[in-house]
Amino acid sequence: MKLKRIIFVGIAAGALALSACSTASTGGGSEGGKGDGGLIGVAMPTKSSERWIQDGNAVKKALEDQGYKVDLQYAEDDIPTQVSQIENMITKGAEALIVASIDGTTLTEALQNAADADIPVIAYDRLIKGTENVDYYATFDNQLVGNQQAWTVLNGLGLTDLEGKPVADPPKGPFNIELFAGSLDDNNAFFFFNGAMEVLKPYIDNGTLVVKSGQTTIEQAATLRWDGETAQSRMEDILTANYSDGTKVDAVLSPYDGISRGIISALADAGYDVGDEWPIISGQDAEVDSVKAILSGEQYATIFKDTRELAKVAAGMAVDVLNDEKPEVNDEETYDNDVKVVPSYLLAPVPVVKDNVKSALVDTGYWTEAELGL
Ligand code: BGC
Repeated sequence: MKLKRIIFVGIAAGALALSACSTASTGGGSEGGKGDGGLIGVAMPTKSSERWIQDGNAVKKALEDQGYKVDLQYAEDDIPTQVSQIENMITKGAEALIVASIDGTTLTEALQNAADADIPVIAYDRLIKGTENVDYYATFDNQLVGNQQAWTVLNGLGLTDLEGKPVADPPKGPFNIELFAGSLDDNNAFFFFNGAMEVLKPYIDNGTLVVKSGQTTIEQAATLRWDGETAQSRMEDILTANYSDGTKVDAVLSPYDGISRGIISALADAGYDVGDEWPIISGQDAEVDSVKAILSGEQYATIFKDTRELAKVAAGMAVDVLNDEKPEVNDEETYDNDVKVVPSYLLAPVPVVKDNVKSALVDTGYWTEAELGL
């Protein structure tokens, strides 16, 4: 029942996103609002992952299309660098800030300075925690992302469809699964892992899925800064400690494509071959190399989050606030940052497996056939 509600919210979010986008494209500074032509600071975490490059470019374009100047900065996953970039934006006279944080808890002082200068702040994709000085939050339905990651794993094992509905006559298993989570300083990591475990736990409890390493808490499964090499060494350790007796891993829950690539390297180094015995591996972000890995059978699935839509929503929020208009939100209860519940706009994520790569990613113009080697 709860999952049904979540699916519905996901679909509704997608539909609403369209109207938010139209707000974003019409509510611009060209009508002479406070922010007309002014500077907006956009702080992104790192260029080491493709998605943030797409996000940054899309936010910049959405704002420039509406007549704003944009100061777009990347902090290479270094917290002090991000803090000083934000301070700099304030000094340069930014009228609004859009921030995808590295560590959601480290911006309190910088954002107090923003508030003192009357600069509104939009949290981008990742919740900014521990401060009242964050006005709105644009993101995806992160709990649903976690559900979907688990559903893709169950689907790959032949147990359910892509919405988690059990199939008739499923294989009995048991299946060996290992679990990976994202960075504990990113609030999203908890939503993804909890969303996935909400789906997987009953299968673990009834013995269909077995976590041979015994590492089932988010603290044990976490990957600092979502780093692929960190995930690769954890996977190597797990394989050595738990699978040297010739048993095989059947599935790996992975929260992000870069982590999946680390897991894939560890498996290949341990002698696994793509084919029947190759595990089912999930992912997130539909990064080019990982979509290619889906096409070649190394990765089973990813979760596509259309960064173009997120960028439009976030840019629209900033522009609305600068024009003294209330941005559209569709969730005012989920994202409590420990000081306040931040009014949020949630977009709908889309699971992608080999079968729908073309319809989800090529037909929507996100990647071209040439980029995917099709
Ligand atoms: C984002 C994911 C991304 C991860 C690593 C999370 O906050 O929501 O889309 O995979 O960070 O960059």
